[in-house]
Amino acid sequence: MTNKDLADVIFPHITKTVADYEAMYPQRNLKEGACVTRFAPSPTGFMHLGGFFQAIIDKLIVQNRDGIFYLRNEDTDQKREVEGATDLIMSTLNHYDILPNEYQFKEKIVGNYGPYIQSERKEIYQTFIKHFIEIGRAYPCFATKEELEELRSAQEKIKARTGYYGRYARYRNLPIEEAIKKIEAGESYVIRFKSMGDFEKKFKFMDEVRGLLYLPENDEDFVIMKSEGGLPTYHFAHLVDDVLMRTTHVVRGEEWLSSVPKHVELFETFGYPIPKYIHTPLIVKKEENSVRKLSKRKDPEATMQYYEENGYPKEAVIEYLMTIINSNYEQWHTENPDKKFLDFQFDPKKMSATGGALFDMDKLNNISKNSISKMTKEELLEESYAWASKYNEQLKEIIDQDRNYYRAILNIERESSKPRKDITTYSDILNNIWYMYDDLFEKEETYEFMKITDKEEIKKITKTYMDKYFSVEDDKETWFAKIKSLCDALGYASNMKEYKQNPEAYKGNVTDISTVLRVALTKKAQTPDLYEIMQILGKDKMIERFEKLS
Ligand code: GLU
Repeated sequence: MTNKDLADVIFPHITKTVADYEAMYPQRNLKEGACVTRFAPSPTGFMHLGGFFQAIIDKLIVQNRDGIFYLRNEDTDQKREVEGATDLIMSTLNHYDILPNEYQFKEKIVGNYGPYIQSERKEIYQTFIKHFIEIGRAYPCFATKEELEELRSAQEKIKARTGYYGRYARYRNLPIEEAIKKIEAGESYVIRFKSMGDFEKKFKFMDEVRGLLYLPENDEDFVIMKSEGGLPTYHFAHLVDDVLMRTTHVVRGEEWLSSVPKHVELFETFGYPIPKYIHTPLIVKKEENSVRKLSKRKDPEATMQYYEENGYPKEAVIEYLMTIINSNYEQWHTENPDKKFLDFQFDPKKMSATGGALFDMDKLNNISKNSISKMTKEELLEESYAWASKYNEQLKEIIDQDRNYYRAILNIERESSKPRKDITTYSDILNNIWYMYDDLFEKEETYEFMKITDKEEIKKITKTYMDKYFSVEDDKETWFAKIKSLCDALGYASNMKEYKQNPEAYKGNVTDISTVLRVALTKKAQTPDLYEIMQILGKDKMIERFEKLS
């Protein structure tokens, strides 16, 4: 009996060969130097920030080099699969314009290297596994859970390295006849790779981020198929898919770095070239005095949904992530303000290789504020409306009631060289403009009056102002000159220098007067430009609000 007999007993239905698949998925016909990258998430129901970080890198690598970026759904762990998970991944990529060139989505396959869903590639994996058995590099292992546990405690007792390797690999040399007998008797098994490595030896491995590493060879007979007739493990699917889909660059989390020896041995067993590996750092956050991994259980900001729901502009999220992807991005961006992030030349050597990539919410908020401040009123109107339509009914209604009024409010201190920077996210807009809407203005109970709180005095100031000094026709200069005249008329200093020299001579100064007007109209002591606010509110509404105070 030969290995071939064993392979036929295990996979009687597999009739294709590895060569058939190599011919079906030939080398891609791409320009010289073009790269092929993939984003390969497991459908867990979240789009993790770390995964999205990798997708951006995938896209950056292929951009400008006529390469291919494809999406592969790694659903071999069907216990963890969540329905609708792929929709979420596609909609996130779509939201940020990081769409793959090839993918499979809702019955539609785009690209010639699919299926792009691992559970639909079972026959392909099994063909490769069958081949491994035929050449004596894979075998069925009948070890039960108890047997494996015993092995582990025996190894721990003598302080040996734990695992299924060398002389501990009990079924590695089981005679073929016995293996077939067990299979025919219906015993359960998995398929293991037969390693030829030596853990005592090191080999050179080039990690694109970390540089040259010396890693111990793999000697573990690790599992490549999880149960009889089943799906492969990650290690084996990585080999088959990245070979047949002709991936040139594997961008994945650094948690896979320790599995590299396994992957290298698999690729070498087949004689396939090893792809370039970019192991991305863990995204970590500071917590008091320690630094820890962002966790999707503890940190809402660990999932991409958070940024969409909270109304961060997509450019801001990308720009922030770009600053942690490459340390020289910020400078490049400052020097090339009109270029898009995809024009940036990604350099894996400029990515943090140790200690993780520190996620800094304050920095993201700052970038977000800047990004919103640079939008035109029309852009902000469109973006905030799209956001509100999905996430904030109240803001949507307000915009629907009167788009022009909303646009005018957004335009306060906008489209200028020193634009307002008080809005961090779209979800922040209402907090900053509520006082421009009567019903919201009514609901707020507190007036933030500062120095002047006497009701009679406030009434005198507002009434005199409306009666003698306010006109909607005035330009900003005239408007301010009139406020100064109001000061002079009521015994307040219109000139700050004079006031400082002789404060006793006045009831207060021009700032106190402006504050009274501001608070009476908005209830707030701090707002953007008061002149613009008055222009938008208009005379009638101003009188109404001033009269409310008496
Ligand atoms: N499905 C793997 C994960 O979610 C992907 C690793 C890879 O990109 O190869 O971690």
